[in-house]
Amino acid sequence: MMAASNDHLRLIAKLAERGITDSRVLQAMAEVPRDRFVPAECRNQAFDDRALPIEAGQTISQPYMVALMTQELRLSGNESVLEIGTGSGYQTAILARLCRQVTTVERIAELSEQAQLLLAELGFVNIDFHVGDGSLGWAANAPYDGIIVTAGAPEMPLDLYEQLRFDGRLVIPIGTGRPQILQTIVRDEQGPRVTDVCECSFVPLVGEGGWPADDE
Ligand code: SAM
Repeated sequence: MMAASNDHLRLIAKLAERGITDSRVLQAMAEVPRDRFVPAECRNQAFDDRALPIEAGQTISQPYMVALMTQELRLSGNESVLEIGTGSGYQTAILARLCRQVTTVERIAELSEQAQLLLAELGFVNIDFHVGDGSLGWAANAPYDGIIVTAGAPEMPLDLYEQLRFDGRLVIPIGTGRPQILQTIVRDEQGPRVTDVCECSFVPLVGEGGWPADDE
């Protein structure tokens, strides 16, 4: 991948200032070129710390939120991670730099196909792409060490929790309105251990374990 521009380096410095302390996460954010994942008309804003529109009425998440959610997974390199909401593929790329295998599920086929092409072009080989209702998880590759959901659910989707291994971490925006609460849920022998991380605002998780399609 190409060397980071000054704008890109400024963004990484800002993430560190805002409290991203995991050096592997900061390194991955510095290595993945976000400008390749945004539409051409937004390219001059690619290294601003904000969400941007992508195709099909969806968004590429704010870099701070990508870094924070990734940090919450506490990856050390050998994990198998499930991502729900491939979108542009940007978060997918960050995860793929930091763990052994990523399974990513997107409900909009057009987005999944575009992300697949771009990530292959950028040289990623450890990503398994699927189109479908990710609110049900992806049972074929379970159990996962971590699950990250980049869309907001009304409550914790049970199928996702059950596809975590014990001590695995589910990072997910939860709530019936906006803002939602970003939660980290650890699968404990005794049951889910939930920590509220911060307020956030995500597009809805549409599916059986999320919101009905009409609410989108
Ligand atoms: N992580 C993405 C990125 O970096 O570009 C941002 C994704 S966007 C905020 C949320 C995505 O979740 C959208 O692409 C949307 O289509 C997808 N989504 C919503 N409900 C879904 C579901 N049940 N299964 C899979 N994907 C879903």
